[in-house]
Amino acid sequence: MSVSFSLSPEQEQLKHGARRFAEANLRGLADAVRAEPDPLRRAGLARPVFEKAVEAGFLKGFIPVPFGGAASSGVDAAILIEEWAAHSPDFVISMAGPLIALAPVYEVGTPEQIARFVAPFLADHGAPVAAMAYSEPGGSANFDAPAPAEGTRTTAVPDGDHWVINGRKAWASHLPGWDGDGPDVMTIVCRTPGGVSLVVAEREHLAGHIEVEHVYDLPGLAGCLTARVTLRDVRVPRANLLGAEGQGVALTRNAFVGSGASIGTFAVAAMRQAFDVAYRFAVAEKRGGAVPIIDHQAVSDVLADAKSRIEAVRLLSWRALDAALSQHPSALEWALHAKVFGSATGVAVITDLMNVVGVTAYDRNFPLLRHLDEALAYPVIEGSNVGVRRRQMQELFRGEGYDPLSASGMS
Ligand SMILES: Cc1cc2nc3c(=O)[nH]c(=O)nc-3n(C[C@H](O)[C@H](O)[C@H](O)COP(=O)(O)OP(=O)(O)OC[C@H]3O[C@@H](n4cnc5c(N)ncnc54)[C@H](O)[C@@H]3O)c2cc1C
Repeated sequence: MSVSFSLSPEQEQLKHGARRFAEANLRGLADAVRAEPDPLRRAGLARPVFEKAVEAGFLKGFIPVPFGGAASSGVDAAILIEEWAAHSPDFVISMAGPLIALAPVYEVGTPEQIARFVAPFLADHGAPVAAMAYSEPGGSANFDAPAPAEGTRTTAVPDGDHWVINGRKAWASHLPGWDGDGPDVMTIVCRTPGGVSLVVAEREHLAGHIEVEHVYDLPGLAGCLTARVTLRDVRVPRANLLGAEGQGVALTRNAFVGSGASIGTFAVAAMRQAFDVAYRFAVAEKRGGAVPIIDHQAVSDVLADAKSRIEAVRLLSWRALDAALSQHPSALEWALHAKVFGSATGVAVITDLMNVVGVTAYDRNFPLLRHLDEALAYPVIEGSNVGVRRRQMQELFRGEGYDPLSASGMS
């Protein structure tokens, strides 16, 4: 890996293009989402903007170049995610479904499967969505646990040329699709006779077989369509199995590498917005004293520590996304650091920044608390830090020959 910390002219262009799109479309969307109390209607507000983003070619930015898309570098992905997530992280999560759901397709899909499952996301119109249906209502941290644990409960039973899938799934964005008939592609973690496996259901298989039990009302990321659903007798061709039966555990873990890395960048986006608000407050406000509060050393110290941590997480996340997209052998370790450290730092930094502003920050209409609501999601989504991500780190540590210097290339 060559190391450069300056953005190339193309990356500058990407940053400005993404920022223009966000300021023109996502800022207003975020305001509308905040004003809409119903979670289902709220999620639907994103659709016209989603269509615009597809027309502008941004969806292809989530599909790697070898598969027909435009995603070529981890730093590019970080730039796009940060610019958009600063205004509406929910929108990015909604659009980034292919990042996770198609990862196993890229890894083990046959050429025919790749062509069929990726095609909807190369379109330049419409609002195609993908869901990675891993989480289940009764818990997913132990999805790989053998009996007598329940592990993955959703089943795919062979029936002639088809799998018949039954079970309950939760949380993954766009499980019901825009209209309840499912996303364009749903990658389902399920139990087949050969073990935990991945089977892809397309919209034509899902329509009429998804029962929406509940739509979650999230405190932050409120525009995400996250629901609990029952899949009832979803009939999918046997040819939609990804890889071999029993390969589902490894494929699922790999699918969450890139998205885990991206969580650091989501945290940066929330921190940068919160910093901007707190900094401007500190420069402008005297709070009845003789000088702006930034002139008090205590206030400036909190801002200084916050800024250091934001920059540290930004660089860590660039590294992690670069490793994920270039399939670096230590991509998992980088993703875990960005996910765990980035998300925990996001919560800590924004909490500190609220202390800079003081009681004024504890008002929903003051534009700071909303970023804490966003940041609070990051330790628990994309595999919680406690139940999933640190355990993965433990597994790496326990692996034979683990070398603490190899991720950084300093062995
Ligand atoms: C906006 C949003 C988007 C999401 N997108 C997706 C998606 O696209 N796809 C998807 O499938 N899910 C998605 N999720 C769900 C998310 O990825 C969760 O992280 C995932 O469901 C796992 O939750 P969990 O780790 O809390 O597991 P759970 O099984 O619910 O565990 C709960 C807690 O129990 C403890 N625990 C359980 N087992 C262990 C253990 N063995 N060791 C130590 N502690 C343990 C931990 O404290 C853990 O946090 C999304 C959620 C949100 C809010």
